[in-house]
Amino acid sequence: MMQTQSTTLVVIGGGPGGYIAAIRAAQLGIATILIEGDQLGGTCLNIGCIPSKALIHAAEEFEKAKHYSHGSSIGIQVSNPSINITQTVSWKDGIVKRLTTGVGALLKKNGAQVVKGWAQILDGKTVAVMQDGKEVSRITCQHLLIASGSTPVELPFMPFGSGSGKVVSSTEALSPTEIPKKLVVVGGGYIGLELGIAYRKLGAEVAVVESLDRILPAYDEDLTKVVKTALKQLGVEVHLGLTVQGLNATGDAVRVKNAAGEESELACDKVLVAVGRRPRTQGFGLESLMLDMNGRAIKIDDQCRTSMRDVWAIGDVAGEPMLAHRAMAQGEMVAEIIAGKRRHFTPASIPGVCFTDPELVVVGKSPQEAQAAGIEHITAMFPFAANGRSMTLESSEGFVRVVARKDNHLIVGWQAVGKGVSELSAAFGLSLEMGSTLEDVAGTIHSHPTLGEAVQEAALRALGHALHI
Ligand code: FAD
Ligand code: NAD
Repeated sequence: MMQTQSTTLVVIGGGPGGYIAAIRAAQLGIATILIEGDQLGGTCLNIGCIPSKALIHAAEEFEKAKHYSHGSSIGIQVSNPSINITQTVSWKDGIVKRLTTGVGALLKKNGAQVVKGWAQILDGKTVAVMQDGKEVSRITCQHLLIASGSTPVELPFMPFGSGSGKVVSSTEALSPTEIPKKLVVVGGGYIGLELGIAYRKLGAEVAVVESLDRILPAYDEDLTKVVKTALKQLGVEVHLGLTVQGLNATGDAVRVKNAAGEESELACDKVLVAVGRRPRTQGFGLESLMLDMNGRAIKIDDQCRTSMRDVWAIGDVAGEPMLAHRAMAQGEMVAEIIAGKRRHFTPASIPGVCFTDPELVVVGKSPQEAQAAGIEHITAMFPFAANGRSMTLESSEGFVRVVARKDNHLIVGWQAVGKGVSELSAAFGLSLEMGSTLEDVAGTIHSHPTLGEAVQEAALRALGHALHI
């Protein structure tokens, strides 16, 4: 006989949004059932953030070894380094397994029940759990939280798997069986550049095709030009303003067209299509709720409420920015609201980090955004070329930049580009959430020698008295 259960909260999807919501709800004593059709951890842990950073790290280490094999000023000598990509992938899979098992353990420890299967929404308070296309149980709930995530956008004329498996999404690119000789990457955004750089370091010839006239359109040009120079040095070809037409007849090249309508071909053994992700809103009965939409995403308010009472949506399914830390923050908040706490999703900023080489961080407003918002501002940058720690790390490219209000010196934004700057996002985020002024940061002792000193120096420079430049 089919099992029927009743609970307070049902969470659809065990990605970073859903599993955090379920953990926090259970901590607060809310009876919670999380339904996951695939693996706990969602895109982020299984086929996104974590595996991509593992591959990027492996590629970086290999690149370093290759660099040393050509003789280095550091004095390290290496001969003929090689990489066993199968071993790299199984190392990466090991990390994923540890983390997904950890999520399962955390859910259990906190008392959230996990149900394996695909949720099919019957109405705003009833969900069927499907396994192999058959309903195995039915759950009724007071609150329904949709955290179904997103899927990669496919090019209709070059779908994933076409060209005898030549055309792949990030999922396949994260588990290579071999490194292609020639990789064409369609899309010069987050995934295209993070993975394009990694593949180049792993030995592939990489060509990135971007339809706009610049890479990483979400970041300002002062930052991306540092990455552009690094791409050139690394030997990654970047083709801007090109439209992809599809594979050629023999399937060994991608046809592209420029603005003047001239066609050419880029040879390829593999094609990674990374042209964005789209909210996962179809195939599980969501349409039947007739929720208000915001384009392809579920429309939510500043408490992640949808247009239907007690139906909530968080993370990628609720649109941009599609970032794991935003999904987690929303999940935690929704659990607290359901538990009766007063919360709103109004962060001072949602940091953006791109794990290219060099890395990029943006938190809050850029000078252009401050200008557009009518904020009279001052801005200053401090280059890593004047930072001792950067020199000891053999990386002096890039800078930290601060943007602050002119009247009261309240900091409204931080940006950085350079090796290892992803870790500065914590300091930047704190500074914005806590309402720091330039004087607060300038007056804080930053440990020496660290990259963080460039943060203090940027604030000092904005005040007109930098010490190391
Ligand atoms: P997801 O993680 O997509 O999880 C949704 C879950 O719901 C999935 O497990 C799915 O199986 C399940 N599900 C869907 N429908 C149903 C259903 N009907 N029934 C049961 N289960 C269902 N973000 C960052 O912040 N930093 C990064 O460095 C980063 N790197 C990335 C690299 C790559 C290659 C990719 C693809 C993404 C990356 N992201 C990164 C984005 C990040 O992965 C997503 O923003 C994040 O995973 C969104 O979390 P979510 O909980 O909304 O959805
Ligand atoms: P993206 O939006 O970052 O980049 C897509 C790029 O493809 C854009 O530059 C766009 O102009 C270009 N493009 C679109 N159509 C094209 C076409 N037909 N031909 C050529 N170029 C085309 O998307 P993504 O790289 O696929 O990543 C998806 C999402 O995953 C990101 O938006 C981000 O939210 C998340 N992500 C985050 C991180 C991180 O935080 N470090 C890393 C990877 C992915």
